[in-house]
Amino acid sequence: DDTLISVRGLKKYFPIHAGWRKRHVGDIKAIDDVSLDIKKGETFGLVGESGSGKSTVARLMLRAYSLTDGQILFRRASGEVVDISSLSERGMREMRQEMQMIFQDPYSSLNPRMTLLELVGEPMVIHGVGNQAQIRDRVAELLSVVGLRPEFLTRYPHAFSGGQRQRIGIARALALNPSFIAADEAVSALDVSVAAQNINLLQDLQEQFGLTYLFITHDLGMVEHIADRIGVMYLGRIMEIAPTHDLFSKPLHPYTEALMAAVPQPDPRGNRTRKRVPLKGEIANAANPPSGCLFHPRCPYAQERCASEEPALRALPSGRQVRCHFADELSLTGAVAAAQR
Ligand code: SF4
Ligand code: MG
Repeated sequence: DDTLISVRGLKKYFPIHAGWRKRHVGDIKAIDDVSLDIKKGETFGLVGESGSGKSTVARLMLRAYSLTDGQILFRRASGEVVDISSLSERGMREMRQEMQMIFQDPYSSLNPRMTLLELVGEPMVIHGVGNQAQIRDRVAELLSVVGLRPEFLTRYPHAFSGGQRQRIGIARALALNPSFIAADEAVSALDVSVAAQNINLLQDLQEQFGLTYLFITHDLGMVEHIADRIGVMYLGRIMEIAPTHDLFSKPLHPYTEALMAAVPQPDPRGNRTRKRVPLKGEIANAANPPSGCLFHPRCPYAQERCASEEPALRALPSGRQVRCHFADELSLTGAVAAAQR
């Protein structure tokens, strides 16, 4: 089995209390019934508008947030499979060596009072790995691995550009030799050419160290370039999971199609860009979700049944997974058809 991490029925509910007795009257289902597998060495993209819960899923998977329910099975480097959903804080500390996260904002995620040696070496200090000299050598090595000069170790983050700071964050994430890295909008704050360089770096590192990535982004163009498979989230649920090429050539969920249509597409015959078709309506409020299919108020294909009955995420004979009553009947063609609507 080549699965590195397997998420089963992940839930994050926030209880709603009412009255002076603070009676539990319901839950906000921020994340509901999310299941996905990530294979060793692959890049799994998780996409959706902001508020879809994709960042929360990543944080739950790394146990940065407590979860309400679900299993998170992680295959350790030793081959042992651990359900980290039930690990204590101490047990999780050990796991964090193998699971790391890269954050969006390279400006606020690095402590400005720490040198690069301290920043990149900190995970080793926390986990008691190596003596001072070994940590120094390792940090110098990590800096060169991410394309920064080893002499930079005594400098502070303010001396670096956004793209370089991102690399410092990447070096720090690599310090303990993780097998799994979750990148949350990792390059979204950078301008296009710097973002592309850092994406290439992440791809090189993946090959070099056999890393597995969870890539969280709202940027479909970027995820098409980097991900092997993609999960599409809406309002805390997975709407569709498919190999990247299949998803883009034939989306099966109306929400996926709408997301694609909202991305400017290069015209195949020239450099002109096809018109962006904005998604109509707002993402619904998780505290007051629509009945039935959560996407039905925005879905151009909605039928009566959609307002009353919530579709399950189901596997089609093709092996693809989709949460739509009519996935087999609709013939969606993604951005092209949507742009012509
Ligand atoms: Fe649209 Fe209905 Fe499918 Fe939901 S179940 S995506 S409303 S067609
Ligand atoms: Mg987010």
